[in-house]
Amino acid sequence: MLPQEILEDVQAELLNWRGLGMSVMEIGHRTPEFMQLLAEAKVLLRQLLQIPDTYEVLFLGGAARTQFGMVPLNFLAPGETAGYFVTGIWSAMAYQEASRIKNAYCIASSQSQGYIKVPSPREYQFQDNSAYLYFTPNETINGVRCDFTSPDPQVPLVADMTSCLLAEPIQVSNYGLIFAGAQKNIANSGLTLVIVKKDWLSKINSEQLPSMLDYRLQAEHHSLYATPPTFNCYMALKMFQWVKKQGGVDAMYKKNQWKARQLYDFIDASNFYYCPVDKADRSLFNVCFRTEDPKLEPLFLEAAKEHGLLALKGHREVGGLRASLYNAMPLEGVEKLLSFMDDFARRRG
Ligand SMILES: *Cc1c(COP(=O)(O)O)cnc(C)c1O
Repeated sequence: MLPQEILEDVQAELLNWRGLGMSVMEIGHRTPEFMQLLAEAKVLLRQLLQIPDTYEVLFLGGAARTQFGMVPLNFLAPGETAGYFVTGIWSAMAYQEASRIKNAYCIASSQSQGYIKVPSPREYQFQDNSAYLYFTPNETINGVRCDFTSPDPQVPLVADMTSCLLAEPIQVSNYGLIFAGAQKNIANSGLTLVIVKKDWLSKINSEQLPSMLDYRLQAEHHSLYATPPTFNCYMALKMFQWVKKQGGVDAMYKKNQWKARQLYDFIDASNFYYCPVDKADRSLFNVCFRTEDPKLEPLFLEAAKEHGLLALKGHREVGGLRASLYNAMPLEGVEKLLSFMDDFARRRG
């Protein structure tokens, strides 16, 4: 979801953006106005996440999953491999894609336990010639949160932050590359943000790479090698401004913690609902839960819809129920859901 005030703003600007008499969609990507917009968005994202100057910020077209292929294509030279920490469906897919086109190995996996807990460091296995280590801090589908640090600071860390960027503080300097598809927490679908360490870019061998998939080329052209998804960049700028106005990433994080705590506490105290994920490894942004009697889940979704509560169906890969609590979800949204859940349990329990 997006904040109502952004949607209203966008609606008002559709016919006349910044006095140009037209929408941002209708102006060229090399116009001073659009270049200004992109520059503002980059500066603001840098501020919000305190991104050091030694990092490049890219606004690329395409789904987050494009990065599943781009990372190995750019950073795995012949004879090298990469370690993947498999903690849910998104990291499993990234591992599968890397293995399909290059060499990759699994650091540890919780697949056999159904991804309800994160493997412990005792299970980690590393290989010597690792060019990078990859993990997914927030597993959106499984509702799992995962911390991972590289045992060797010389080996860059890659993180898929599609469902958590700008929702919690991060230390950018811990990473070689961070990417995030915009559609969960930032803007409309079709834009992916990439934050990448400049000196790692110099390692890329562009010869074998399609130009559009070459991080170094995209960085040299300041994300304007081809036409970026301009409207999405405009939406992202609006969201960055909104996050800043809310008090920045720390303030968002406090609210997000509160929202998640309300929901997990309620579920844990209930004998009608339960959360399958291990307490220590629960996501702050995607609360997966089930009803003790699974037959009630379709009825729950139907009744929720009648109350204006949407998007509560678990992902088709795992089933069950899921409440996503991204930045734009207000505290009142969680309160409304809790009151509905309580009521439904009383009627059906
Ligand atoms: C949604 C999601 C993706 C996939 O996004 P697409 O843009 O559809 O490719 C990848 N990783 C994570 C963590 C996600 O939440």
